[in-house]
Amino acid sequence: MFVYADNAATTKISKKALEAMVSASEKYYGNPSSLHRVGQEAAEQLFHARERIAENINAKSPREIYFTSGGSEADNQAILSIAENGKKKGKNHIISSAFEHHAVLHTLKKLEKQGFEITLLDVHKNGIVDPAELEAAIKEETCLVTIMFANNEIGTIQPIREIGRICREKGIVFHTDAVQAAGHIPIDVQAMNIDLLSLSAHKFHGPKGVGALYCRNGILLHNLIEGGAQERSKRAGTENLPAILGMAEAFDEACNTMQKASEYVTNLRNRLIDGLSVIPHSVVNGDVENRLPGNVNMCFEGIEGESLLLLLDMKGIQASSGSACTSGSLDPSHVLLSIGLPHEVAHGSLRLTFSEENTMEEIEYIIKEVPQIVEYLRNMSPVWESLEKGEINHVI
Ligand SMILES: *Cc1c(COP(=O)(O)O)cnc(C)c1O
Repeated sequence: MFVYADNAATTKISKKALEAMVSASEKYYGNPSSLHRVGQEAAEQLFHARERIAENINAKSPREIYFTSGGSEADNQAILSIAENGKKKGKNHIISSAFEHHAVLHTLKKLEKQGFEITLLDVHKNGIVDPAELEAAIKEETCLVTIMFANNEIGTIQPIREIGRICREKGIVFHTDAVQAAGHIPIDVQAMNIDLLSLSAHKFHGPKGVGALYCRNGILLHNLIEGGAQERSKRAGTENLPAILGMAEAFDEACNTMQKASEYVTNLRNRLIDGLSVIPHSVVNGDVENRLPGNVNMCFEGIEGESLLLLLDMKGIQASSGSACTSGSLDPSHVLLSIGLPHEVAHGSLRLTFSEENTMEEIEYIIKEVPQIVEYLRNMSPVWESLEKGEINHVI
């Protein structure tokens, strides 16, 4: 059996999104900046896509949506822009969390080297930021709070509404990396007091290499890319219209079917968590309630996540040990360390992430295969032998 269970890394493009891309490439090949008819038809489509994205996150105006090359670019532009605005006012303090995506953490590192002070909030054992701790961390010099909507490894959903309320009350700009949330759980930038929000098409069955940044009217954005006057002069370069129309189509589809898909995928997730939790010395990482519908993340003591992945792949199961971005490095995931797991346990992690395309049959197949592979690896593991002999103590 073949099972694609790595939807947090990327999703398969939907038929409708693909059709929209093909038809856009054929029909709307004009440059939206051209004044002739073919150009203006493309410009119209571009505006329509902006409207659709804006509607799905309840932005006030389509003019608040800026198209980017993806989630990473949107994160970079949001954070660097607000930092620059803050610096001009003598405000050089930024609050974030310990388990953000590297697109956020590495941008903050860069700012730290330039003299910014960065506070990374604890995410506790459950993988959730405490709004009271956020409030306590705010200083006179704080110019930006950037906290992700939902975590890409353990799927925990943050108290975005509370964080937004606190930031708005204190007059601090609030950005959220909503790449894992968009198209999967409801987003309302007005009700949640979100000032800037990043999203990426390939995480909701849209094409790769395209995303969007929502920036509330009145907040000054700065360019990462200089050139022409596209995107209201905030992001130069001829627009990738086929990808943008594919994204708009996929986002509409995901938002229109969200409730049904969420119930369906949550059911798969809960069955898998139940099925795998019977493995001795295993743990589910992150809060089980405040969690993305399709995310399962577990650790199994005494094994290496990488070996588990290879053996699962041989059984047709496409999984991940955490983030696609850290694979290839031997360091355990910064996300798993941030929720307090010891290094040796964090190494034995498995992330399985699902979409509406997965079936209960696939879940049952995973429930059959994983325990056998874990046992096989444990039988070969010197660490497991020491644990069993009582030479070292079990942590989980
Ligand atoms: C995937 C991801 C990104 C990066 O998005 P790209 O479009 O691949 O650049 C950023 N943040 C989170 C939380 C993600 O899951």
